[in-house]
Amino acid sequence: MSTRVPSFSDDFVNGDVSFWHRSLGDPSPAPALDGDRRADVVIVGAGYTGLWTAYYLKRARPSLDIVVLEKEFAGFGASGRNGGWLTGDLAGTHERYAKTHGVEATRLLQQEMYSSIDEVIEVCGKEGIDADIVKGGVLNVARGSAQAARLRASVAAGSRWGVEAELLTPEEREARLRVAGAVQASWSTHCARIHPGKLVRGLAKVVRESGVEIFERTPVAEIAPHRAVTPYGTVTADYVIRATEGFTATIKGLRRQWLPMNSSMIVTEPLPDAFWEQVGWEGSELLGDMAHYYMYAQRTADGRIAFGGRGRPYLYGSRVDARGHTHDWTIEALWSLLVDFFPAAAPARIAHAWSGVLGVPRDWCSTVHVDHSTGLGWAGGYTGHGVTTTNLAGRTLRDLILDEPSPLTGLPWVGREVRAWEPEPLRWLGVHSMYRLYRAADARERSMRRTSSLARIADLITGH
Ligand SMILES: Cc1cc2nc3c(=O)[nH]c(=O)nc-3n(C[C@H](O)[C@H](O)[C@H](O)COP(=O)(O)OP(=O)(O)OC[C@H]3O[C@@H](n4cnc5c(N)ncnc54)[C@H](O)[C@@H]3O)c2cc1C
Repeated sequence: MSTRVPSFSDDFVNGDVSFWHRSLGDPSPAPALDGDRRADVVIVGAGYTGLWTAYYLKRARPSLDIVVLEKEFAGFGASGRNGGWLTGDLAGTHERYAKTHGVEATRLLQQEMYSSIDEVIEVCGKEGIDADIVKGGVLNVARGSAQAARLRASVAAGSRWGVEAELLTPEEREARLRVAGAVQASWSTHCARIHPGKLVRGLAKVVRESGVEIFERTPVAEIAPHRAVTPYGTVTADYVIRATEGFTATIKGLRRQWLPMNSSMIVTEPLPDAFWEQVGWEGSELLGDMAHYYMYAQRTADGRIAFGGRGRPYLYGSRVDARGHTHDWTIEALWSLLVDFFPAAAPARIAHAWSGVLGVPRDWCSTVHVDHSTGLGWAGGYTGHGVTTTNLAGRTLRDLILDEPSPLTGLPWVGREVRAWEPEPLRWLGVHSMYRLYRAADARERSMRRTSSLARIADLITGH
């Protein structure tokens, strides 16, 4: 793939959180915490995890006093920056969850992921949240023989875990979406396109209206049993729930818990009808590929392509880039790939580029946990699959906090213990060599029929 020089809209923006927020106008942050306070439950972080937890808890027990503390504004993190895949894909591998809980429990987790998509859609309908949702499924394309072999193997392996995906004939594939160089594709109904900003802002509004207090511009410096400490006061509570995902490493004592992995996106200006006639995409399917250095895309409700992939994967020392500024070479790489997929998009201009962080545990599988003795709880480590998983997390945290055993509290991701990441410079070296090897494997696979051994070495290094 050759690098192409992109052109930019006159009002192009790099960073400033995301296109999704910009499309809705600047948020006006609520007041910060003002002094010490007592609550039944305090939640740190107003992304989907924190907001879904507050939503379900308040609905279950309207009398609960729930406080959310957010360092910037609701949706500032990955929840307001993601690719908008409300996906049924599990974070991590089925095999790892099955190791501790067996095949049947892991199949149940997979089923819960699928029903969580419908749950999100149902709640949005009920609560009047218009998040541009279309459940058009997901199309994964293979470009080249090695990717196609991997795609066939993954569809075959998935059936053991209740993953529902089918291989398409070339005619079926082309009828949905015409991607240049695609040799095979799978399709699954279990995915919906969303506007991430509309979902997170709509949810925050509903949660506020239900009586939950969300304090914004309130960074939590320390989380300890029964208290969350901020520069403006301490909230003491029976339960303190950490919902900070990719930012967790910035909290005292948690630097090596989940690695903050970057993902970057670009969005085009609205594309003309002639473009859509050429490529199809009438079903608003989400689009992914089988490269190791993979991409993800959606057709937005207003006729743009939002296209994402790995940028600069990780910053030394688990630092996080706060407002989403994206390097020029990442923008160029994403643009080149977009045009490689859709040559007819070449005359288009880029309207916005941004990045965000997602949380990656050492074994790449997510966790939800509540400890009743300390009152500490958390959910996260979704490894880029959090849009749906956060909803399941919110309902599971509700049942755990209320100490009401349910089918959700028995799922294999509840209470998992995961070891910490290595200290630096090993973390940096591991992640950067993984992505170098993935890039090299993708390049090699252009002339191969099987997965390159470089990719397997990369997986071994980081436990992916
Ligand atoms: C570019 C990108 C694309 C993605 N695409 C997809 C996708 O298409 N589908 C999918 O399933 N997943 C995707 N993901 C992952 C998904 O967005 C996340 O898994 C999910 O949003 C996590 O939600 P969260 O609420 O746990 O974390 P976040 O949304 O990151 O929220 C955490 C919140 O905590 C706040 N916070 C952090 N530290 C503190 C502190 N000390 N004190 C107070 N508040 C604090 C932050 O400001 C933030 O608002 C993507 C992620 C990125 C970055």
